[in-house]
Order: sequence, then C-alpha cells, then structure tokens
Amino acid sequence: MVFEDTFVDVIHKATNGLGYKKMDLMERSGLSMLEIEACLTHRTDYEESIWKLAEALNLKPEALVLLARADSGTEPQIPDQPQHVVSLPTEVPGWDGMTVNSYLVGCPQAAEACLVDAGASPRQVQAVLQQRGWILKYFFLTHAHRDHIQQLGQLQTSFPNCTFLAPQGECPDGCQPITAGFNVRVGKLRALALATAGHSPAGTSYAFEADDSEEIVICCGDALFARSMGKVGKDHFHSALKTVKQALLSYPKHTVLAPGHGPLTSVDLELAQNPFLAE
Ligand SMILES: [Zn+2]
Repeated sequence: MVFEDTFVDVIHKATNGLGYKKMDLMERSGLSMLEIEACLTHRTDYEESIWKLAEALNLKPEALVLLARADSGTEPQIPDQPQHVVSLPTEVPGWDGMTVNSYLVGCPQAAEACLVDAGASPRQVQAVLQQRGWILKYFFLTHAHRDHIQQLGQLQTSFPNCTFLAPQGECPDGCQPITAGFNVRVGKLRALALATAGHSPAGTSYAFEADDSEEIVICCGDALFARSMGKVGKDHFHSALKTVKQALLSYPKHTVLAPGHGPLTSVDLELAQNPFLAE
C-alpha cells in the first residue's frame, strides 16, 4: 500500500464531508451495520458492499473498489518522478509514522530552484541543492497546517537569500503574502499560484511549467491526494471538490500532481481513479 489514504479513509472522509451519520449510510446503501463494519475492516471480498457504499456517498464505485484492491497489494499506478522535481518526504513528529512532502523544483539551466512547503529540514534541502548544483530562490507554502510548516523557522534562518511566499490569510511570520494568479520566473521555469481552498481557508497550489518542456507539475498541498483528498469539513466539502476539478483537473492529462502527503499522481490517473471525482 503506497497511497496516503485507504478506501476506508475515503469512506470516512466522504461520510464526514457530507455530514452523514452511520444511520444515514445504512439507509442510503441498504446495507446492515454488520455489512458496513465488515466492509470497513478491509475485507476486499466485500466488493459488492463497497460498491453500494460508494453509491450512497456519491463516490465513483469502480475507483473505490480499485483502491480497496490496492490496499490488499495490487500494484497501484503512479507516474514517474519528473527529472527536475525532488520529493522530500519527512516524518511528522508525534503523528505515528505519518510523513509530509516537500518538493524542490529546479531549473537546471539557471541552476536555481523553488521549494514547496516546509516539512523537510534545511539539511535535507541543502543536500539536494548541493547534489544538483542549484541555488534556492523561492519558497512557496501551500497552507499553514502544522506539518507543512514544521521546519519553516529553520529554513528561513538557513536560506536568508531565499524569498519566502505564503497564501494571504495563511501567511506565517517571515513570509510575504501572495494570492492566486501570482507568478514568478526562475530561469526557464514559471511558477503560478492557483487558489485551491477547502482543506484550509486559503489553500494554494503551485503550477510549474518550463519554456523548453511539455512537462507540467502542480504541487497541490492537501487539496488532492493520489486517489483521495485532504480532509474537508461539511461546510466546504462540495466547494472543495468543485475547486479541485476546476483548478487542478482542468490541466492537460499528462500534468503531474505532487500532493502534500503520499505519492505523486497525474490529472489522467485522478480523473479515472479518484473515488471523489465521480461525474
Ligand atoms: Zn493540511
């Protein structure tokens, strides 16, 4: 299992997002509590129940079944690592075994790079910069949840010549506030801020496109995970889904999505296999 969320997590997130109780789930799916419990204890031979729960929760049934099979060891599809993007998964202290991703996105011609999110330590970041021969120009924050800013202070101290940028409304000390549409060039690379609120009030994603390449990479924080999404409360659940579709999944199918937790994915894979993105 490589995904951040299991099919059970997805069922819980959808149930919470829709504001349903277990009784609602029983009524809407036609399943008994016993059948629901069996389904939620990772019994993939309960695919028929998974299908019914998906329909009750407006999830894409084929995608939820596929995710359940991934839980039981079926090799999941994930895109290759783009050449100039380095993922830096880092443990989150106090959250049992959980990791948060930071990303370095570089322009080799200019020998400059951007860092997205502050989960990784200055030592981890410096090691990659040295190895690639890059200089850190910009830091972008997707949102100010604790795990995504856990090393921010240390990074600011270690990289005094880097410009630290964060979404207006979720802008920690030492960062300059930016809003959607903000863009900046780093060599041949253009970084563009996209509004992807929902998981957090001012959540922002960053699209990186290079002049000399078809490749597009979007660091999307917790707006989207491979086959799932970050937790969203009842009040913002529908708008968050709409935002993900409009802001992220409207990009070309080959666009690589780099989430705040778990593996990389692509627009193509999420359109086909993300249970939340039922048509
Ligand atoms: Zn978060």
